[in-house]
Amino acid sequence: MIETTTIRPFTAASFNQYLAEGKLMAARCADCGKLSLPPRAICSKCHGVNLVWTETSGKGKLAGFTVVYIAPTFMIEQGYGRDKPYVSGIVELDEGVKISARILGVDATQPDSIGIGTRLEVGFIEAGEGDKKKSYLAFKTRQE
Ligand SMILES: [Zn+2]
Repeated sequence: MIETTTIRPFTAASFNQYLAEGKLMAARCADCGKLSLPPRAICSKCHGVNLVWTETSGKGKLAGFTVVYIAPTFMIEQGYGRDKPYVSGIVELDEGVKISARILGVDATQPDSIGIGTRLEVGFIEAGEGDKKKSYLAFKTRQE
């Protein structure tokens, strides 16, 4: 893992700002070493506030998933829905932390073809234009 000394608050806004920069960042507790993803301002293990931004490897495996046919508005705007489902999953990173994200490179119309434990690596989805442009966390299948 790569340590960074950049001081940003441990908030969703900072997390999203890092995503826009193509980085999946976690908060590591400098006291007990616990990694939090998404980041938290207080360590969930020792309740310490001595946290450090840490870039994750972005590599992991699929721990669980669901195929989404009834999409939220921002996904409908991207063309997803009943006729074009997408996959949302829980990814367990090699560092041991889990996070939910879009799963790319799998066939949402063939859920039986999607295997738990599939190796994944971080990817990013950019949607919207100008000021409304936003980066979303996603993972894609990878070959070892
Ligand atoms: Zn701690």
